[in-house]
Amino acid sequence: MTATLPATVPIPRRPDARDPRPGLSSLGEADLRAWLAERGEPGYRARQILRAVWQGLATTSGEMRTLPRSLWSAVDGAFRVDTIAETELRIADGGRTEKGLHLLSDGSLIESVLMHDPARAGSRERHTVCISSQAGCAVGCPFCATGELGFRRDLETAEILDQVRAAARRLRADGRRLTNVVFMGMGEPLLNLDRVLEAVTALSDPARFGLGARHITVSTSGVVPGIRRLTALGPQFTLAISLHAARDPLRDVLVPLNRRWPVAEVVAAARDHARATGRRVSYEYTMISGVNDTDEDAHALAELLRGELAHVNLIPMNPVAHTPWIASPLWVVERLAGRLRAAGIPVTIRRSRGQEIGAACGQLAAERAGEPPAPVVARRRERIVAASVAALRGERSREPLVAGMGE
Ligand code: SF4
Repeated sequence: MTATLPATVPIPRRPDARDPRPGLSSLGEADLRAWLAERGEPGYRARQILRAVWQGLATTSGEMRTLPRSLWSAVDGAFRVDTIAETELRIADGGRTEKGLHLLSDGSLIESVLMHDPARAGSRERHTVCISSQAGCAVGCPFCATGELGFRRDLETAEILDQVRAAARRLRADGRRLTNVVFMGMGEPLLNLDRVLEAVTALSDPARFGLGARHITVSTSGVVPGIRRLTALGPQFTLAISLHAARDPLRDVLVPLNRRWPVAEVVAAARDHARATGRRVSYEYTMISGVNDTDEDAHALAELLRGELAHVNLIPMNPVAHTPWIASPLWVVERLAGRLRAAGIPVTIRRSRGQEIGAACGQLAAERAGEPPAPVVARRRERIVAASVAALRGERSREPLVAGMGE
């Protein structure tokens, strides 16, 4: 089901500059107090603004009813109350998956996915939003539509946070609350780490969104210095590693960042994080038929994670245009799960969600970007096939990394 929402910001035909006003959700109480003091306003108004942003989930200054009208125009002059406009909402899986396409002030498009999971024995109902940290992505994983789009820019802190506020607003309309936030949408979060950390701070701040750090998951495709920085900071949020292959030659192809930080270095950094925080690391493994689901892969994965404080999520590949691959059949996924369990590694098989609405990362934005010319698609497929065939022979990739990635 598709619902096209009335956009509060028109889609610019020729996007030029970004709106220079900072997004209000990126500001803490001290920032707001300083701004109010400059205007001769009392400091307690900072709390009123924060409540309007985080409990009221305001999108315009006019919704800030506790502020005097005279302050509304000052707020609008200095800040954007909302930095994203929902331009499209697609709903799938009988209402359990909602995908939002958001327009930024410079015309960039980003996506978030809101997933609803009913209560089960031992667990409450969950409402999880998967958010983007960059517009596009430089990592270029060939099974990912965002990777094909390439990198456009890092998101601002407020652009990250306003995806969460948009999801919370939709839930509130049905009397429900957001329970979990995962940084697994478009982009590599640890390549925009400062802003991701600011966003995590705002989300877990009791004076702002007040979500327990344990309900926040930050994923990475393996930016080792970023993982080590997270570990040094010590917050208790969950670390997820997008692993997808346990052998370096194959991971060089599936997760090109592996050419900079090989899989053993990534797992070593994740191990240190697990030891320091006492939190189990989640390993995501997208299963691609005949590519990373062989007996050799199962053996390599079991040996790599044996004895680790880890949990593996096996995810049959979501169908994505312009790849030569398809998802592993369920019996192959179950066979790999069995091998891991036999090695003492906890495993969950995750169903791909929202396939009919293009819920995989970047698919909606790719649709809006339009179909690339057929020869470009054909060359891409040939390159992926050649690289994976060489990887299956055990050859390491010699392709250079995309500029700016992994420095
Ligand atoms: S899977 Fe993640 S890291 Fe890889 S290209 Fe897509 S968004 Fe980037």
